[in-house]
Amino acid sequence: MRPWQRLGLAAGLALGAAGSASASNEVSEIRVFDHQRYTRVVIQLSQRTEYRVRRIAHPPRLYVDIEGVRIRSADGHTQVRDPAKPVQRVRAGQNSPGRVRVVMDLDREGRDYRSFHLNSPFRIVTDIYNRGQATVAEKPPQVAKREVRPEYFGSRPVQRIAIDAGHGGKDPGAIGHGKLREKDIVLRVANLLQRELARRDFDVVLTRSRDRYLTLQQRTQIANRARADVFISLHANAAPRRSVAGIETYLLDLHHDRQTARVAARENGTSIDQLSQLQKILASLRLDDQEDFAARLAGSVHRSLLAGMRNRYGNVTDLGVKRGPFLVLFQADMPAILVEMGFVTNPTEARRMRDGGFARGAARAIADGLVHYREDHARHLVARR
Ligand SMILES: [Zn+2]
Repeated sequence: MRPWQRLGLAAGLALGAAGSASASNEVSEIRVFDHQRYTRVVIQLSQRTEYRVRRIAHPPRLYVDIEGVRIRSADGHTQVRDPAKPVQRVRAGQNSPGRVRVVMDLDREGRDYRSFHLNSPFRIVTDIYNRGQATVAEKPPQVAKREVRPEYFGSRPVQRIAIDAGHGGKDPGAIGHGKLREKDIVLRVANLLQRELARRDFDVVLTRSRDRYLTLQQRTQIANRARADVFISLHANAAPRRSVAGIETYLLDLHHDRQTARVAARENGTSIDQLSQLQKILASLRLDDQEDFAARLAGSVHRSLLAGMRNRYGNVTDLGVKRGPFLVLFQADMPAILVEMGFVTNPTEARRMRDGGFARGAARAIADGLVHYREDHARHLVARR
């Protein structure tokens, strides 16, 4: 039995999240995406709840029963779709006072499918495959409570993103033009990025979602414990000269040149020379494993952020993807990058960052870059098999 068949069967029998039903739980949105090999239906809820997925052959359809929820509009939702697509119609309605049923009308019986859920926000995801198209590379990251994630980030799909908003609390980070504080800008982007990533069906872990202080070690610990696939630390830059501007993205390197050492020293709050020899050896072992991945990750995110910002503002300086001795990247078990989204010390960039549009634009562009990395990584997994 191929893994996706097993998943589909398990889903049909009893797939459900533990948790009590609540009167205030609602279906907040149903989205349908067409991917090359499958169609994905995402049911987003305001809270975690129990659900069951079933298939019937005549007429060919899948349905998801969700317990203890209400649907927002009185008459439910119907999305009619292209008859050439495997999923022809998605309907949702209040099946009984405590149950919402979402029905997916299929073009024919026997479509392979898989169903699983994601958290924050809670979403029930059903993928309906074009015939014979399911691959192991697309195995879902979570299946009810029997989650199995390979140990090594290089052999599992990119699903869980750890977002680290730099600084916070007693550490304001760089303070720039008009007393603009780095910790405030990066937090705004981090919170919006969480939303953008959820929309793109990633799992998200935030190191902080409010103005609080964390050590650099605590930040990577959060990502490591969550077994994130990617760690992305958000920052804003500062320079003694006001004219310096632009975007730069870093991955970890222990052999630093003078230029990156200056940025790293500011972000670290300490010198990398204070690390023990053993710590450096452990880090370089880890680096061997991660470097290719981190370089591709940095490239995807950097290109996308630069394009997004140029699209919005016209001229934005590309300071490139660089390597530097950043402590926050040092102990991450997964590919990790640090993004400097602009200079708070540059009057033009500071003005942009103060505007709400900047955070929205940056969050979208970074999220798109992560989608690109996820796709690139999936191709890698398929190629390795
Ligand atoms: Zn910073």
